[in-house]
Amino acid sequence: MAARYNPQEIEKKWQQRWAADRLYEVAEDDPRPKWYALTMFPYTSGDFHIGHWYAMAPADVHARFKRMQGYNVLHPMGFDSFGLPAENAAIGRGIHPFTWTMQNIDNMRRQLKSMGAIYDWSREVITCLPEYYKWTQWFFLKLYEAGLAYRGKAPVNWCPRCQTVLANEQVVGEGLCERCGAAVNRRDLEQWFLRITKYADELMEHDGIDWPERIKVMQRNWVGKSVGTEISFALDRPGVDEREIRVFTTRPDTAFGVTFMVLAPEHPLVAELTSVERRAEVEEYVARARRQTEIERLSTEREKDGVFTGAYVVNKLNGERVPIWIADYVLPSYGTGAVMAVPAHDDRDFAFAQKYNLPIRVVVAPPGWQGADLDQAYIEPGTMVNSGQFDGLPSGQGAEAISDFLEERGWGKRTVTYRLRDWLISRQRYWGAPIPMIYCAECGIVPVLEKDLPVLLPEDAEFKPTGESPLRYNEKFVNTTCPCCSAPAKRETDTMDTFMCSSWYFLRYVSPHCDVAAFDADKVRYWLPVDLYTGGAEHAVMHLLYARFFTKALRDMGLVRFDEPFKRLFNQGIIIVERQKMSKSKGNVITPDEYVSQLGADAVRSYLMFVGPWEQGGEWDDSGISGVSRWLNRVWNLLLGGYSESERVGLADREKAKRELARITHKTIRKVTDDLERIRFNTMVAALMEFSNYLARTMEAGAVDYAHWEESVDTLVLLLAPTAPHLAEELWQQTGHDYSIHNQQWPGWDEELARDEEITLVIQINGKLRDRIVVPASTTEVEAWQIAEESTRVKPYLEGKEVSKKIYVPGRLVNLVVR
Ligand SMILES: [Zn+2]
Ligand SMILES: [Zn+2]
Repeated sequence: MAARYNPQEIEKKWQQRWAADRLYEVAEDDPRPKWYALTMFPYTSGDFHIGHWYAMAPADVHARFKRMQGYNVLHPMGFDSFGLPAENAAIGRGIHPFTWTMQNIDNMRRQLKSMGAIYDWSREVITCLPEYYKWTQWFFLKLYEAGLAYRGKAPVNWCPRCQTVLANEQVVGEGLCERCGAAVNRRDLEQWFLRITKYADELMEHDGIDWPERIKVMQRNWVGKSVGTEISFALDRPGVDEREIRVFTTRPDTAFGVTFMVLAPEHPLVAELTSVERRAEVEEYVARARRQTEIERLSTEREKDGVFTGAYVVNKLNGERVPIWIADYVLPSYGTGAVMAVPAHDDRDFAFAQKYNLPIRVVVAPPGWQGADLDQAYIEPGTMVNSGQFDGLPSGQGAEAISDFLEERGWGKRTVTYRLRDWLISRQRYWGAPIPMIYCAECGIVPVLEKDLPVLLPEDAEFKPTGESPLRYNEKFVNTTCPCCSAPAKRETDTMDTFMCSSWYFLRYVSPHCDVAAFDADKVRYWLPVDLYTGGAEHAVMHLLYARFFTKALRDMGLVRFDEPFKRLFNQGIIIVERQKMSKSKGNVITPDEYVSQLGADAVRSYLMFVGPWEQGGEWDDSGISGVSRWLNRVWNLLLGGYSESERVGLADREKAKRELARITHKTIRKVTDDLERIRFNTMVAALMEFSNYLARTMEAGAVDYAHWEESVDTLVLLLAPTAPHLAEELWQQTGHDYSIHNQQWPGWDEELARDEEITLVIQINGKLRDRIVVPASTTEVEAWQIAEESTRVKPYLEGKEVSKKIYVPGRLVNLVVR
C-alpha cells in the first residue's frame, strides 16, 4: 500500500526543487510564443487574507495552463509599497514606514511562495526602493518635458485627519476620506498635475481590447464627454470689466427658456457682481460652500439651495434680463463654472425655480401641449415654442439652428467638455517618491538632471502628518543647488501619488534590474502588451485609467509602440464569509496560512477555483474545503492504489468499457481546456471531479486493460497540474514519469473519440411507428419519455387522449398506449 497523501511534506519538497532548478524563470530567446499574464500587484498593507489568494491563485492556474499549452509565460510578482496606508499603519505602530513595509513584504512573499505559483522571483519589483522609484521620477521628468506635467493652484480635497490632499477618486460616499473615513473639506494649494485630459477622447475608446463592458462604461462615464454649445450672455455692470459670462449647455434648443443663471460660489466674478445689499448673505453662502466636498455638493439626495447676487445678465437671443444666482451644485471645475437655468426642461432647475419662485417658461412643447403650466420638467424632444424665429422646429433641428445662429453672430460656439480633470499627483506626505523638481530664485522651476536621479527619500525625516510635507523640515533634503545657475535652491518637498508607481510597473518586470533605463526597449517589445490582466474591479477609474494614460503618453514620446497596456482584462469577484465581506472589525478574516498548514496549498487553490464563477466570487465554507481536500486524497489513491484487471469481464464488455473510457477521457480534456480558456474555473474543477469519480468506478470494475487505464489516469494528472501543481508533480514522479510534469505538453483530444455515442429512438403510439429521433446513447428513461411527448409528429396523437401504459426498451424504443 502506497504512503498516504501528505501535502505538507510534498509541497515543501517540490517548491524547493522548482526554485533550485529555476523551473519558472523565463527569457526572451525562446522559440515559443510569448504570454504575459499579469496579476495586479498587492499593496503591502500587512498579511494576506484569503481574498488576496483569490486574486492570485486562479490567475496562476491560468498562467500554468498557458505554459503547458506551449507558451513562454511571464507571470511576475511585486509589491506596491509607497503611499498612505503604509504610512498610517507605521505611524499607528510607532515604527518607520520603511521597516514596516519591508517586514510586510517578507511575510507576504513567504505566503505567496507557499501558494506554489510560477512567479519568477528574480523579477520581483518593489516600488519603494530607490532602484524602482528612480524611474518613477524619470517618468515624471519625461512627462514634464512633454508638457504633460504642470504646476497650478487648485482647490483640493483635504482630509483633516490624514492631513493631506486626496484625489477626487479617493473621496468616497458623502465626501469621506477613502483611507480613514473622515469628512473631507476643500483648500487651495500649489500642486503638480498630470495632463490626463489631453487623452480624454482616446481614453473613452477601447478599440481592440477585450475588457468587461462595465469597466469600459465606468471609464467612459468617468471621462464624461459632453457635446454642446457655449453661449455668451451679455454683462453690463458698473465697475465690472467683464462684458460677458459664458455658459456651456448640451441643450441649445432651450436657450429661449433661460429664466436665471447660476454661478459656482467660487466663480471669480461673484465678489464683483454682488450688490451691496446682497453681500452678507452671498459671503456667508460662499464660505459654507467651500467647506463642502464635491460629492456632497452633487448629491442627488440633498435639496439644492442658492442665493441671488443682485446682478443680471442679458440673454442676447431675446434681449431679456436674467438674474444671476450662486448655488453650490455648480462646480467651478466643470465647464465654465456658470450654467444657464431652464427650469421648464431640467429637473434640477425646475426644483430650484419652484423653491425660489422663479419663472418657468416652456420653449420645447410636449406633444399636444395647450399652454398649461408643467408640473415637472419636460426633458424629452418636442416642438420649439416661445423661441422667436425658431418656433415650430422640432427641438433637435432647433438645437442646430440656434447653434448656427449664435456662431454666425459670434455669440457662441459648438464645443465639447469633459468631466475628467487633470490628475493631481502632489501629496504632502513622507512615504512616496519625491517629485524631482527644484525651485531657484533666479531660474524658477528647474527639473532635476537625469544623471542626479534618484532624488532619495531621506530616511531620517519626521514622517508624522502636519498638513505640510514632512520633507519641508528636513534641511539636508530641502537645500540644494540649482542645476542651471548653481545658486542655492530648494527642492520640491511633496511626494508623488502612489498611483504614479503603479502606472508603469508592468513595464519594469521585463527588465527589473536594468539600471540604465526604466525598461529594456527590446524586452518590452517582446513581452508587451500584457495578454491577460486580472484583478479587482475597484480599480476601474483609477489605476486602470492612469496606466492607459501613461502608456499613451509614452507612445507619443516614442518610448513604446503600443496603444493599450492590457489586451484582455478580467475582474474576479470576492470571497465572502458568513454572507459578509471579510473585515478585521467583523472578525471574519480567513487567512490562507492555517489552511495551507492543515490541508495544503493544493487544497486551498482547488477550493478557490471551485467556490464559484471567478468573476462572481463565492462564500468560504470550511466543509467545502474539506470536501475538496478529500477529493485530492481520492485522486492520490486512484493513481497509487494499484489497478488490477478483472478476469471475469468478457471480451465484448471489455471492448465497450475501453470505448467508454476513451470517450469520457477525451470529453473531459475538451471540457477542461475550454473552461480554462474561457476562465470558467469552477466548472473545470467539477469536470475533473466527475472524471475522477468515473475513474474510481472503472478501477473497481477492472474492465479495461492496464495500458488504457494508465493513459486515462495520466491524463487526469496532467489536467490537474495547473490547479494542484504539487500533488500532480508528486503523482507524476511516483507513477514513473520524468520530471517535471510542468514541462509537459497539455493533452489534446480527438473530436471523434470525444463524441457522445448516439442511438435512434423509435417512438410508437399504440404500437404504430410515429417518429424516429437521434439521441445520445446516455439518454435516460425519463428523458426518453420527455423527448417522445415533445415530438411534433407525436403530439397530434396524444391530443385529448389519456396515456394508459408506457413501454420502454432501453436504447431502442418507447411505446405509448393511449385511449
Ligand atoms: Zn483621511
Ligand atoms: Zn538657477
